Amino acid sequence: MVRTLFHHWLRGLPIVVFAACTSVAAYAADPPAAKPAEPPISHRVLPEGKLPDDARLGPLRNIDSYFPLSPPASREEWERRAERVRRQVLVATGLWPMPTKTPANAVVHGRVDRDGYTVDKVYFESFPGHFVSGSLYRPKGHSGQKLPGILSPYGHWEKGRFSEASVKEFRKQIVEGAERFEDSGRYPLQARCVQLARMGCIVFQYDMEGMADSQQIPVGVAHYLKKRRPEMDTPELWGLFSVQAELHLQNIMGIQTYNSIRALDWLLTLPDVDPERIAVTGESGGGTQTYMLAAIDPRVKVAVPAVMVSTAMQGGCTCENCCYLRVGTGNIELAALIAPRPLCCLAADDWTHEIMTKGLPELEKVYGLYGAEKDVTAKALLQFPHNYNYVSREVMYQWINKYFKLGLEEPVIEEDFKPLTVAEMTVWDKEHPRPPGGPQHERALLQWMTDDSAKQMAALTPHGIDEAAKKQAAEWRRLVGGAIDVMVGRELPPSGAVSFDTVRSAERDGYMEFAGMIRYVEKREELPTLILAPINNRTNHVAIWLDADGRRGFIRPQARQRRG
Ligand SMILES: [Zn+2]
Repeated sequence: MVRTLFHHWLRGLPIVVFAACTSVAAYAADPPAAKPAEPPISHRVLPEGKLPDDARLGPLRNIDSYFPLSPPASREEWERRAERVRRQVLVATGLWPMPTKTPANAVVHGRVDRDGYTVDKVYFESFPGHFVSGSLYRPKGHSGQKLPGILSPYGHWEKGRFSEASVKEFRKQIVEGAERFEDSGRYPLQARCVQLARMGCIVFQYDMEGMADSQQIPVGVAHYLKKRRPEMDTPELWGLFSVQAELHLQNIMGIQTYNSIRALDWLLTLPDVDPERIAVTGESGGGTQTYMLAAIDPRVKVAVPAVMVSTAMQGGCTCENCCYLRVGTGNIELAALIAPRPLCCLAADDWTHEIMTKGLPELEKVYGLYGAEKDVTAKALLQFPHNYNYVSREVMYQWINKYFKLGLEEPVIEEDFKPLTVAEMTVWDKEHPRPPGGPQHERALLQWMTDDSAKQMAALTPHGIDEAAKKQAAEWRRLVGGAIDVMVGRELPPSGAVSFDTVRSAERDGYMEFAGMIRYVEKREELPTLILAPINNRTNHVAIWLDADGRRGFIRPQARQRRG
């Protein structure tokens, strides 16, 4: 009945003053009574101690929360969802709009000749003055043919691309059946590149930020920053993990993701790479880079992320997390964005160990919407801890052989090889000097991103009302509206989906007061609200009062002043 009363009132009197709570703290307390002598006036919407039934007030999630995927019923529904999640990934990683692609200025040098393949040293600029470094493995004896191109990012190895297992560690792996060969087994990062090259693929293994030849942003900043850096956290010129960087959506995960995109750009400039046969495979942090690239870049045709796709731990490093990325989504859904392109998720006795029952069935349902259930698989090798060892790599080789139609007899067996030394791999030498890095470089890189983004947005700002301006306006809405949608958490609710339910109404001194709840039932959101409406004055004006103190700040501003 009170609800009817308010709506009747609203129709007759379109002058409403509107006060809304904006903080959880404000829900809990009533403002004190106006004067001790008068009976207390309660502006409370809910009984004391009761919080609104609002999904946003639930426990905060972290990387160790549970991240299941609920597959939608139809392909249309999934594709709408996929567009939204893909956009979320791009916004979160600062790639919305995508940075302006500048010349890569790639340098390839220092070829090493091996049994059945060669290895070149490669570096190029992903951003102006910011370099991606890596090793390019090429098969011999395939001249004139188009060959599959494979990107191979890697995870948090102490020496990155230059890693070698200690003799003790390696012997343990031989005993456990995790590795097979005396020489090559100590170099698992090289092993997968060599084998894929021997299978007839062109493989580019590129450095994680802060590892091997990539030293412009040190590892202690890119992955292991423990303390805030006040000198890098200023409003004028800032570094990563600063207030300004976060506000500008500039993060190490975005830089690594963009490095992957630029690595693929460069790989596709090679005349013998077949653009229809592009794969990406990496483990751990490299598994994160694998599904991230494949999720947003349709040029990737096959993906094999190792030991990272699961409903459990989502990535333990700063390079695997950024604001907005996993709000309402998680690694299983991010991997599902690869559908219907072939996807093989490798798992081990780590946070991925439940993939066969939690993750794979849901991925199969999404692939099923395309009739492609058979193009997604997972392999849980639970006899091994977190790894991308010989046994796991074998699964990947079969997957690549099958989907790139290499025609090799199965099982494809990895063979021994002569490992590369650090001197044979490092891209920097006297003729190719290491580029400058450190805080100045980091600030300049983020400044370039800020300027580039501002330029792109300025160019889109519509002027005038002609056809060109209309197009600009549409693009502006797509970009800015699309980003706001992600940052707010969802689109504006449709008209009629939000209701105001009056709990209590009262006539005050010259105005009516309605206490009630604004509800968006579909998203389980509730906002305790006071609506104050003058009784006699009809001006058609509405004021919405949002206050950090909620209703308390509106009704008794002096209470806030006293707090100083
Ligand atoms: Zn990292």
